Amino acid sequence: MSTGALPNRADLRKLATQNANVSARVKLSALPRVVQVVESEEAEIDVELAFRRDEQGLYVIDGEITGRLAMVCQRCLDAVTLDVKSDFNLAVVWDDEAAKQVPTYLEPLVASAEPFDLHVLVEDELLLSLPFSPYHDEKDCHGGEYQQQQSTVVEPVAPKRENPFAVLDQLKRKD
Ligand SMILES: [Zn+2]
Repeated sequence: MSTGALPNRADLRKLATQNANVSARVKLSALPRVVQVVESEEAEIDVELAFRRDEQGLYVIDGEITGRLAMVCQRCLDAVTLDVKSDFNLAVVWDDEAAKQVPTYLEPLVASAEPFDLHVLVEDELLLSLPFSPYHDEKDCHGGEYQQQQSTVVEPVAPKRENPFAVLDQLKRKD
């Protein structure tokens, strides 16, 4: 199985009937919803998809996506490199009603537009596998240093308070 481009106009019924395998390397820049949440779009994601029909006649996609990408550490705001891996088993359906009938060991994929852009599937699965708040391991994180730098910068900027005794002096003089 050679690694090629990810089809953006896929016939999901046909792929399942043919027991097709799709193996692709996808540039992060081709996944706009993922680009919005990562630090750099300079990364590639490996995608393996196996299409089949199961014994119930469902159109099934067994998939795995793996990659290494950078997000912003929520403690020190530097880039943190994350290894991501997602395994999934999808049942392709064509409306929300059919999605409710999908057995619990499969996840429904509602193919609302056809031909189907497989990048949408990869985006969905990748977004689900990303951490909501990414952090460095504690030993690699500069979060503590960052906070110290912040406080030394902030202090001199604090507004000068009026000397309260100066106000008292003024009041006394009025008497
Ligand atoms: Zn960090």
